[in-house]
Amino acid sequence: MAKRTVKDLDVKGKKVIVRVDFNVPITDGVITDDNRIQGALPTINYLVDNGAKVILMSHLGKVNHKDAEKLQADMASKSLLPVANALQKLVDAKVHFVASTRGKELEDSINELAEGEILIVENTRFEVGETKNDSKLSEYWASLGDLFVNDAFGTAHRAHASNVGIGSILPSALGFLVEKEVEMLSKAVYNAEKPVVAIIGGAKVSDKILVIENLLKTADKILIGGGMAYTFFKAQGLEIGNSLLEEDRLDVAKDILEKGKGKIVLPVDHVIANDFANPTDVKTVDVDQTPKGYMGLDIGPKTLELFRKELDGAKTVIWNGPMGVFEKEQFAKGTIGICEIIADLPGAMSVIGGGDSASAAINNGFADDFSHISTGGGASLEFMEGKELPGIAIVQDK
Ligand code: AMP
Repeated sequence: MAKRTVKDLDVKGKKVIVRVDFNVPITDGVITDDNRIQGALPTINYLVDNGAKVILMSHLGKVNHKDAEKLQADMASKSLLPVANALQKLVDAKVHFVASTRGKELEDSINELAEGEILIVENTRFEVGETKNDSKLSEYWASLGDLFVNDAFGTAHRAHASNVGIGSILPSALGFLVEKEVEMLSKAVYNAEKPVVAIIGGAKVSDKILVIENLLKTADKILIGGGMAYTFFKAQGLEIGNSLLEEDRLDVAKDILEKGKGKIVLPVDHVIANDFANPTDVKTVDVDQTPKGYMGLDIGPKTLELFRKELDGAKTVIWNGPMGVFEKEQFAKGTIGICEIIADLPGAMSVIGGGDSASAAINNGFADDFSHISTGGGASLEFMEGKELPGIAIVQDK
């Protein structure tokens, strides 16, 4: 059943707690990428325009509660104050910030909020009970508002107090960002127009086994690249040199190759190097020509051609994980090549499941060439595995 969205709520004059994902990268107090703040603006602006008193809650980074000194340092460096300052420049409404997660100052600030104003609460992870979904903390936070909106997709796969805890107490709805994530990912994973081609890469097979198994149910082809391809090659008896190998996943790889016969497509050539940190000899060879002492770090041009043919005519493309060590320019051609191929596909719905492949596409100028780029790495991975995400499940149905 469809979930309620923010448009289903009567928000005028109400204190609306919105869980947003303001977990932005900050260096020396400066936000280096404000995509996540931008992503929350449609919901924030809608609430402001409709006279809500908007209370924003988010985590920022990880906070160490086990070591008193580290906790002090985290509380000093992981404040949401820079985010509040950045948000103030992006909205027409007044943005208040309160440097606490409980107590009189927070409660007074909320009570003083006028309709159409925004308050940012300090980093939710400053509370030790946040990641434990502590019931007392959830009840306290819920007592501060009338309604709850979940607009944080990046944490939707976690059951924390600021999403599942509050959402299980207050009347709830999805924000626009999460609504779009659910709509697009559901379309790609559950109601996809065929042919469906999935591209799965990244470092480890172990991280993607459940995704591959789930997508084998619906995808017509699964193209595999990146470091994880080498465990499959090894399972086929190929020499892989010093390439990434998960020895304990060889049986799983064999099993997937068997189950996915006719669907799984592996690289045919690759870019190899004699060393990872300091490669002095880099060359492209077929995958059955890998010399001992070398490691595979990107897919090669013949593979890109093969993948182009497999993608030709696809109506749905799902991509998760880079094709090589794309952080280094000399091993980024495979990942950028996949962006180019997908950008050239007429009429295909294309979805990137967050994480590294999403940043590769965005940083190389392909953001507008995809139908959807997910904002949640772990959350979209779990969605693609077919799991129910607790932060979404908790939101009331229409
Ligand atoms: P993941 O988080 O599983 O999507 O993995 C992303 C990481 O995989 C990136 O940091 C890539 O550098 C790395 N990666 C991709 N291909 C390879 C490869 N052939 N060898 C080693 N690491 C790789």
